[in-house]
Amino acid sequence: MALPVHPDILSLSPYVPGKPIDELQRELGLTRVIKLASNENPLGPSPKALAALSGAQDMLHRYPDGGAYRLRQVIADRWKVAKEQVILGNGSDEILGLLARTFLTPGDEAIMADHTFVIYKMEVTAVHGKPVIVPLVNWTHDLESMVRAVTPRTRLFFLCNPNNPTGTMVAAEDVDRLMAKVPEDIIVVFDEAYFEYVRNPQFPDAMAYVKQGRNAIVLRTFSKIYGLAGLRIGYGISTVEIIDYLNRVRPPFNANSLAQKAAMAALGDDEHVAKSRTVNAAGMEQMERGLRALGVTSIPSETNFLYFDAKRDGRLVFEALLREGIIVRHIDGTMLRVTIGQPDENAAFLHAFKKVLEGEGKK
Ligand SMILES: *Cc1c(COP(=O)(O)O)cnc(C)c1O
Repeated sequence: MALPVHPDILSLSPYVPGKPIDELQRELGLTRVIKLASNENPLGPSPKALAALSGAQDMLHRYPDGGAYRLRQVIADRWKVAKEQVILGNGSDEILGLLARTFLTPGDEAIMADHTFVIYKMEVTAVHGKPVIVPLVNWTHDLESMVRAVTPRTRLFFLCNPNNPTGTMVAAEDVDRLMAKVPEDIIVVFDEAYFEYVRNPQFPDAMAYVKQGRNAIVLRTFSKIYGLAGLRIGYGISTVEIIDYLNRVRPPFNANSLAQKAAMAALGDDEHVAKSRTVNAAGMEQMERGLRALGVTSIPSETNFLYFDAKRDGRLVFEALLREGIIVRHIDGTMLRVTIGQPDENAAFLHAFKKVLEGEGKK
């Protein structure tokens, strides 16, 4: 007999992560596989974070500090907020889920862009909220239309800045205008997973809205520039009130002890962050130039990935690249996303992509 599962859950499909390297190696018998699919830091974890982990195995039989006292204090000091304004998540993904569970009742609306980070829609739907999806304009959030989509049922407003998968950002003056128009009781979620990569001086200071007491939350992660995706840790900064509500729903030991240790060290590793930014900026140029030489234009990006129109079936390009040992991300239609890697990885991608495009001509 069919289980009585809610139609909202039936409407979801499991998140498809970037293919793991060893799986592809096994499947295709490849010796070298390059993964440029999940916006991970190609330089690896912060060396300081790795050092902080040595010896940590001795405490694995103990539960982590559920209040994450020290890490929250370090984060609070860093951003000049109170410790009570900081929440940790098992990745910032988890905080997105906590926001949905804490603030949405069935039928409540959450405004988000299309395309944007796919987790928003999933978390909102899972609690029977209603995702209100507003198309991008010029690959960027259309803040005006998003504000117009507000109704009395709107509770959350997701702003992925810079946006994944497009790499675009909305500027400070546009966010200011948004915050002037959006009703104060709506929680604006600033998902800033790529914050540390941004180079544009027009990028907004979202933390300032939190400090003004607005109902806003800024999400950051240790998965991207800090290179700790495998440990699963991210954080949110918001008002004391919002953090208090989220804490009532948060699983008590959601941030594990290794993650807390590593994150604390990584946050203080300015050298690794600086090096990662430099390598990324050079790699971005290499990739943009290489794509242009192949007749492909990419969307200018503030992140560590590029979004581009392959002008042919993106799934076929994705699969042909897999056979060359390169994992990228097919977004939809003709659009692909590629993470900036180390120089040799970028070169290998460009070489393989060229081969794929040429191979097509011969068929
Ligand atoms: C990667 C990413 C996250 C967070 O990832 P976690 O590993 O769960 O911290 C959040 N938002 C966006 C837009 C991302 O790309």
